[in-house]
Amino acid sequence: MKILTVLGARPQFIKASVVSHYISKLPGVQEVVVHTGQHFDANMSDVFFEQLGIPRPDYQLSISGGSHGSMTGRMLIEIEKVIEKEGPDRLLVYGDTNSTLAGALAAAKLHVPVAHIEAGLRSFNMLMPEEVNRILTDQVSDILYCPTQVATENLRREGFDSKPVEILKVGDVMQDSALLFSQLALPPSDVESKEGFILATLHRAENTDDPARLASIVKALNNIHTTVAPVLLPLHPRTRGVMAKLGIELKVNAIDPVGYLEMIWLLQHCGIVLTDSGGVQKEAL
Ligand code: UDP
Repeated sequence: MKILTVLGARPQFIKASVVSHYISKLPGVQEVVVHTGQHFDANMSDVFFEQLGIPRPDYQLSISGGSHGSMTGRMLIEIEKVIEKEGPDRLLVYGDTNSTLAGALAAAKLHVPVAHIEAGLRSFNMLMPEEVNRILTDQVSDILYCPTQVATENLRREGFDSKPVEILKVGDVMQDSALLFSQLALPPSDVESKEGFILATLHRAENTDDPARLASIVKALNNIHTTVAPVLLPLHPRTRGVMAKLGIELKVNAIDPVGYLEMIWLLQHCGIVLTDSGGVQKEAL
């Protein structure tokens, strides 16, 4: 059996680290990995493949930037070519990014069955690009791997029970990754993390693409940094770019994004987490 896995964004590399490892142990199963390029910086992509032992992608599509529609469309075109060349028995996607949707749609149109890991999650806010991606991906998937009972119930409420699909509650692969790698956590080099420091991340489009909201969040972080405890912010490249363009000044300890082993270490050692990340808020628990 040949599985074609489409990855593109940081959290997907982290999730794939456990699942790809498992697939590699299955006799008679071959995994072909496509990296769309949605996240491409060394510290947003390469570091995860190096640290977490994920197989090197067989295809690098190098597609990033542009509007959501343009990015998803370009991915759709290129993933379709890979599917036609490889002839996989199944396509595997994770989460809710443009890479997820492009992979699922390309496969569905070529009648390749789609398995969706993290199916059934809902924010009930269709203004979020992630919500659109996850709802549409679920619609074209026939194996829906749900992380929680609530996720399975969301699918049932949307009528998935009467469809010829499998809904499986399998637990959260992000938790599996966090548990697996927590023993290997590494302190980041060149980072002075004082006892009780606050770990922050900031990258959701709702926060970064609204200048007033972004300015207000940064003002609050700057204030917390001076009045409560030092704030350490591994800064997402998109957020850094927007802030530079808008001239928003950060007074916290902003560093480049860190590898996953370093991030786990920071989570283990900080006093408070302030985040708009889906993954980090779960890991903080
Ligand atoms: N993460 C990381 N380095 C960082 C920031 C985050 O390894 O500098 C990890 C984090 O621990 C979590 C994942 O990236 O496992 C979350 O990714 P992100 O916040 O980009 O996406 P979301 O979860 O919001 O979709």
